This record gives sequence, C-alpha cells and structure tokens, in this order.
Amino acid sequence: MPDYIYICPRGHTTAVNEPMMANAVHICPEEDCGLEMRRKPQTVAVNWGGLKPSDAEQRAPIVQEMIDRDHVRGREEYARYKERYSK
Ligand SMILES: [Zn+2]
Repeated sequence: MPDYIYICPRGHTTAVNEPMMANAVHICPEEDCGLEMRRKPQTVAVNWGGLKPSDAEQRAPIVQEMIDRDHVRGREEYARYKERYSK
C-alpha cells in the first residue's frame, strides 16, 4: 500500500499509509491546528530497474527500503548457492 502525503491549509504535512482508493478525511495532527488535510498530488518514482544510481535520491523511502531488502536477500541466496555447489 502506498504512502500518501497529506497537507493542511497551513502547510503541515503528514504521511498516511492507506489504499489508493481511500477517501478518508484526515485532520492535521499538529498542535493548535486540527484543520482538514488534503492528499497532496505527487509523482512517486517507481521505476523498477530503470533508474540510474544517480537518480536513487528521487526514490520514495519506502521503495528504497524494499530495494535494500531485496539486495540483502539476494546476497544471502547467492551465499547459500555458492556454499552448496562449491563442495
Ligand atoms: Zn496543520
């Protein structure tokens, strides 16, 4: 599920994890604010495998996290594979 950025009329932002079609009303969690927040239109760079390393900063943190996790898993699988077939 994607993270959406909500922004209130005063410019406070908060990330909300919800289904794409959710249409919930969010109230600004900032102290002394409590205004209604709106989903901020955003272009999330989800471009599997097509992104140059120099563009990595543009990735949403959640996407980067998934990529890092996959790299770790790949290394572990390779190590097991190597172990099994090097005897
Ligand atoms: Zn606010």
